[in-house]
Amino acid sequence: MKVPDTQLESSALAPYAMHSSNSTGRQHPEDAHPYRGPFQRDRDRVVHSSAYRRLAHKTQVFTGDMGDYHRSRLTHTLEVASIARTVGRALCLNEDLIEAMALMHDIGHPPFGHAGEDVLNDCTQSCGGFNHNAHALRIVTLLESRYPGFPGLNLTNEVLSGQATRSNKSAPSSEQPLLEVQVVDAADSIAYDTHDADDALELGLLDVKELLGVSLWYDAAKRVQDRYTSLSTEQLRRAAIHQLIETLVSDLIDTTRLRLTDAQVDSPADVAAHADFLVAPSAEFREKKTELEEFLFERVYRHPTVLAERSVAGAALREMFERFSATPQLLPGTATSQMAEKDVARSVCDFLAGMTDRHALEEYRNGVNY
Ligand code: MG
Repeated sequence: MKVPDTQLESSALAPYAMHSSNSTGRQHPEDAHPYRGPFQRDRDRVVHSSAYRRLAHKTQVFTGDMGDYHRSRLTHTLEVASIARTVGRALCLNEDLIEAMALMHDIGHPPFGHAGEDVLNDCTQSCGGFNHNAHALRIVTLLESRYPGFPGLNLTNEVLSGQATRSNKSAPSSEQPLLEVQVVDAADSIAYDTHDADDALELGLLDVKELLGVSLWYDAAKRVQDRYTSLSTEQLRRAAIHQLIETLVSDLIDTTRLRLTDAQVDSPADVAAHADFLVAPSAEFREKKTELEEFLFERVYRHPTVLAERSVAGAALREMFERFSATPQLLPGTATSQMAEKDVARSVCDFLAGMTDRHALEEYRNGVNY
């Protein structure tokens, strides 16, 4: 029997959740699907996009040359979606919207992680610069070409405005984003704080003893040791990571529930009008997360091995940008002879940003051998 999506949602979702029936639709209007809600369709469109598939071969923090244990941009994305759905379900929010947003949240990342982003931003200053969050919007509204009826993926306005919030984080906003958007943001932070520590330990960039000086890690390791007395270092490390995620997620859910009650939030309009994000850790855990993040920044993101990889990858990308800008006819399938200079820069940037790490390295080596 067909159960209308909206009927399921009205019984399962909280009044402050984003209900599909209240969606303002898409830029290019489409008929409702017989058995998939609008946010399910968004999720499916993201999963079937080529930009999403390419996340499998894009750097999160550590490049492919450093091993095969650590997270890629795709597995980071899946961890974010997993955590975000857990939080969303506990708070009776719209999981389909959360999943669609989580799966697309990093789709705009270029090859080589933040090193790639910094280089592309530097190279495109004449035409507005480069930011992975803004580029994600460009991909899903313009660059993906999969449907005959419209450019991009024609996602719902809710998903697009959620992503726009991510790209305008520093801009003052009179309205807070939907709770579903806030959940993805918080889940992203929990995912990278925990998996970057795990990856750095596995890669030998960090020692467990060093992490014991960080209170979140110390507490997680202690809770594991209280339960299991004879774990190997590796078993303890892995269990501590899981404990850390559990602790952070539990705090996030409990704190958010209290805030929603205290603020008497009863609708998405109440969420928008609230002074601040409602989905956020408690003051205690915010402080502890900051301590962990500062530690990771100093000891992992600025580790000489990571900096050396970043520097080599960044230089390769910059050289390719210059090469394609000087000879735009090398860009695939583009009529470039009449192109204005700033269009050339944006086209080169789009092309390079879409590359996986390995495609970029291959292209770079090919270019060197011209
Ligand atoms: Mg992310």
